[in-house]
Amino acid sequence: MSQPRRTRYNSAMAELVLLSLARAEIAKLHRTVLTGDRDAVAAIEAVWDDYRGRALACFLCDREVSEFPPFAVIFGDIADPAKAVAAPLCPDCRDMPQMLRWNRCIKMLKAMHKARTGRDLHYVLAPPGRSYGRRKR
Ligand SMILES: [Zn+2]
Repeated sequence: MSQPRRTRYNSAMAELVLLSLARAEIAKLHRTVLTGDRDAVAAIEAVWDDYRGRALACFLCDREVSEFPPFAVIFGDIADPAKAVAAPLCPDCRDMPQMLRWNRCIKMLKAMHKARTGRDLHYVLAPPGRSYGRRKR
């Protein structure tokens, strides 16, 4: 269900791992997690199993994530509407107010998109199962 998508190394050798997930599957699983279903919680945490024992870097601040499995933000993959991306966050970034956290995530996504394509990105945040993001035309 998941595969490493993009990896970079920081000075502490913690690596940023962004998981590419089947969007419909992860959205359905996330809805079940929100009902408190323990099997669903275990299943969503298991997406990180291949990275147990590895130093993961926080998507927002690049510090090593001290928890495993990490808290992750999940957003739509701009390049592929059938996919979603899970990015790990450290406890400090996780505990930011939600709107601030999303604002920082969107800034990071825009910077990554600009670096890759040279173009600006218009990113729309929407609840899971709805449209997450789209490219500026
Ligand atoms: Zn962080």
